[in-house]
Amino acid sequence: MQDWAGHGAIVTGGASGLGAATAARLAQSGLKVTVFDLNAELGQAHADRIGGAFAAVDVSDPASVAAGIEAAEAAHGPIRVLVNCAGIGGAAKTVSRGAAHDPALFERVIRVNLMGSFNCASQAAARMVAADPVDKDGARGVIVNTASVAAFDGQIGQLAYAASKGGITAMTLPMARDLADKGIRVCTIAPGLFLTPLLDELPQEVQDSLGAQVPFPSRLGDPEEYGAMVDHITRNAMLNGEVIRLDGGIRMAPR
Ligand code: NAD
Repeated sequence: MQDWAGHGAIVTGGASGLGAATAARLAQSGLKVTVFDLNAELGQAHADRIGGAFAAVDVSDPASVAAGIEAAEAAHGPIRVLVNCAGIGGAAKTVSRGAAHDPALFERVIRVNLMGSFNCASQAAARMVAADPVDKDGARGVIVNTASVAAFDGQIGQLAYAASKGGITAMTLPMARDLADKGIRVCTIAPGLFLTPLLDELPQEVQDSLGAQVPFPSRLGDPEEYGAMVDHITRNAMLNGEVIRLDGGIRMAPR
């Protein structure tokens, strides 16, 4: 098992939802967490709560990511763990009322979800490669990405979102292979339905009906269950190059 207590970590999208729960869990495990988020107010407040640092970063902008990593390393030393949670939705069908899917919307979702994960992972990996190994296996770091079950069971209206999450899923193995001889592991979690601010805004009966679609347990996931999965991945040295569905067994219907 690997223990990253005392080392630096970055959680993107760490101001809210799955990212916020992950940042809290890693801080509990003794990591020195920097929260990356567009939302400075929520991000700073959460960083203060968990005893971490905050950097206002737009993951879709490589220069912003570079500045954020520099700030994280200035605060906490070498980055050993990166968790990509920043992401956006963007519902639209391939053709709607006779009009083709807006290419600008498609590009925006790809830019934030897929390019954002790529920007953070590739730049963090470059920093991990530059640092010394920490154990006898030669471990230098861990990268955890967030896809979605939409990578496999994209629903009606999820064209851009599913494409972005499918890209993250497909990146996982080649990235793990690229970085294997540097002692850096890469895994991706594909969450099902979790109760984050996104779903929290829906009326209770809609939340209940979504939860009832989950085979077992028949409820929405708790973001803490997501944070616990990330925490385990950081510790278990044999988890590498894998995409893990965390979904209570759900397979999404077309709509
Ligand atoms: P959320 O909206 O609660 O949190 C996302 C965070 O990302 C926000 O704080 C937002 O400010 C930040 N963000 C958005 N764009 C950014 C950018 N360009 N740069 C930096 N930060 C940015 O959402 P969530 O439900 O916690 O989702 C987190 C991730 O999990 C997303 O990638 C989402 O696609 C994925 N996911 C969520 C669920 C779910 O059920 N909640 C299911 C499957 C996948």
